[in-house]
Amino acid sequence: MIIKPSIRNNLFTNSHPLGCEKNVLNQIETMKKKPTFEGPKNVLIIGGSSGYGLASRISLAIAANANTINVSFESAPKGKRSGTAGFWNNVAFQKHIKNTKNKHKDFLGDAFSSEMKSHVIDYVNKEFGKIDLVIYSLASGARKNHETGEVRYSSIKSLDKDVVGKTLDVITNKIEELTVTPATEQEIKDTVYVMGGSDWKEWIKQLDDANVLNNNFKTIAYTYIGGETTKDIYREGTLGKAKEDLEITAKQMNNELQEKYNGEALISSSKAVATKASIYIPQMPIYVAALYDTMIKENVFESIVEHKYRLFKDMVYGNKRLLDSSNRIRLDHQEMDDNIQNKTKELMYQINDSNIHEYKGTQVFLEELYNLNGFRYDEIDYDAEVNVKELSAKYDHIRL
Ligand code: NAD
Repeated sequence: MIIKPSIRNNLFTNSHPLGCEKNVLNQIETMKKKPTFEGPKNVLIIGGSSGYGLASRISLAIAANANTINVSFESAPKGKRSGTAGFWNNVAFQKHIKNTKNKHKDFLGDAFSSEMKSHVIDYVNKEFGKIDLVIYSLASGARKNHETGEVRYSSIKSLDKDVVGKTLDVITNKIEELTVTPATEQEIKDTVYVMGGSDWKEWIKQLDDANVLNNNFKTIAYTYIGGETTKDIYREGTLGKAKEDLEITAKQMNNELQEKYNGEALISSSKAVATKASIYIPQMPIYVAALYDTMIKENVFESIVEHKYRLFKDMVYGNKRLLDSSNRIRLDHQEMDDNIQNKTKELMYQINDSNIHEYKGTQVFLEELYNLNGFRYDEIDYDAEVNVKELSAKYDHIRL
């Protein structure tokens, strides 16, 4: 199979296995150069095949020497389909982590189902004993209720007024205006059902009931807060409602975990990055491009894996935790710094179709977007045949 980028409605519909391997390997190499730290021994990551979940997995596996289990929803190659980037990231992670002594297992299937939870628990009982950390890093457009069979969808909408945002068309490279309409009550409820805290809570409950949580157990989920330029579409929109629910869930679980395990349920606000999920959100591409540009100029730019390394080393297991008045870990403090926000906002007003590609931030944003799907790596020959069957043949995983 010859694999070149295929993009529809700003979404990549294919991925290149060797490029995905390069993406994972770059993150592993970055982590190998960092000082190690005392962290969790056994980690379960829900959504560990891409974006923040993958970066969390790599940082803990390499820099804290952790064993990991990853639950993700990814497709293997089939017929003319190349397989999803997350699938190839999993394959690459397993390939390059092999020579460490630790255990790493992948489960492919629906994290929302209680069947998946039971299978993971069985595995933990057999192979890990107890879990020290659960990272909830799921980003999904839909959630099936496995009891009723009903599927509910999340939406990216405003709450009570039309909101006009800009977005970047990845194919034409043009800036486009996009109007987001207010969500109905049902759409808000559905988005909270998909992206809020109820499934996270269900995971922790089932793990607790099965007695596989260790003393000092921690769990963490990732939120996004953002600033003035994204608030109408994000924080004060349907996704913001879901994040509020996630944050309330953390507060509820924190008390229970503290009492029972001397544990913690944490929320960390991470910075905006180019991931599969972020490109769906209107205004985000222009904001992230301008933010990157500003952070690069101000010398505070961090790669995704460095960001998560700092979270675990300094703020979850270290003594440099930055909390806000709602007890959220503010890993995003550099993004939210007034100077960075003001300069980003100024830049967003200056960016237009004719100058957008002159900015380093736009170039990095677009490159990252292609890299996420395994494209635009100089070392890879995109005209060469790829034997996807052979590359995936040895991938050891459990599919449900
Ligand atoms: P992503 O799309 O890169 O990764 C999502 C992960 O969820 C993948 O591993 C995917 O396989 C998994 N997944 C989706 N549906 C699943 C299902 N039904 N069963 C099992 N696994 C499933 O997303 P991301 O951008 O890394 O986002 C992860 C979290 O971080 C989200 O909560 C997001 O809101 C938050 N966050 C993202 C940003 C950002 O800029 N991207 C910023 C702050 C916080």
